Amino acid sequence: MKLVTYQHAGRIAVGLLREGRIVDLAAIAPDMIGLIEWGAPGMAKARELAASATDTVALEDVRLLPPIHNPRRNVMCVGKNYAEHTRESYEARGESIEAIEYPVIFTKTTTCVNGPYDDIPYDAAVSEKIDYEAELAVIIGRPIKNAGREEALAAVFGYTVLNDITARDLQTLHKQFFKGKSLDGSCPIGPWIVTADEIPDPYALRITCHVNGELRQDSLHETMTFDIPTIIAHLSRGMTLLPGDIIATGTPSGVGFAMKPPVFLRPGDVVECAIEGIGALRNRIALSV
Ligand code: MG
Repeated sequence: MKLVTYQHAGRIAVGLLREGRIVDLAAIAPDMIGLIEWGAPGMAKARELAASATDTVALEDVRLLPPIHNPRRNVMCVGKNYAEHTRESYEARGESIEAIEYPVIFTKTTTCVNGPYDDIPYDAAVSEKIDYEAELAVIIGRPIKNAGREEALAAVFGYTVLNDITARDLQTLHKQFFKGKSLDGSCPIGPWIVTADEIPDPYALRITCHVNGELRQDSLHETMTFDIPTIIAHLSRGMTLLPGDIIATGTPSGVGFAMKPPVFLRPGDVVECAIEGIGALRNRIALSV
């Protein structure tokens, strides 16, 4: 199932995508988190509704919002999770490569979550080193704590695409990642969540990022350092994960700051992050006023 959060005729609702049209699921869940929390019965109800619905709306007639438009806590992210990207990052900073024993974990604010086709605000007074990171994001489906690999994988509700937009200068200035990762609009997500049953092998999916049509990132997830169950298991150690939690699993090589010379996003640039079998984000960098 492809699940969306959309805005249409002045209201925001959760919906199911069926042959290019949206079946409204507002009758069964107030929002995406509510639907996820309902678990298997909610999914069964959604399927039932989708099979019989006649009053649908065309995808092109709505505004898609991030599938979880009201996350209740920060987006959790894994850094340096593709060997080639780890190498290029150390090299770009002139540092020697360190072995990564545990996933590098940081978060992005709830307020930086952005729509799949919305503008990414650009304010040169804040940062002139805005960079992209195409990533596969995992959506957690049930509360888990101290999960083993099997339980961790079973807790995956679905997958989506995420662009971990980063202000590289702020990331460096403030030492820790948080500030440089959390500017408003710096987390486009979507365009929908594909439920886990439709993605039997997430590592086989090609991930790409284009800037103004130029291919910058192109990789398969099978090159991840820490796979999805390992990431979830680590995160859940002594810390409860909740339905609707968003976990970004890291970006492959090809980011702008590691190019020679480094290239950053400029107002007017269009960034497209796509994952085969899921979908694509398309966001324009726009001067904020
Ligand atoms: Mg990232």
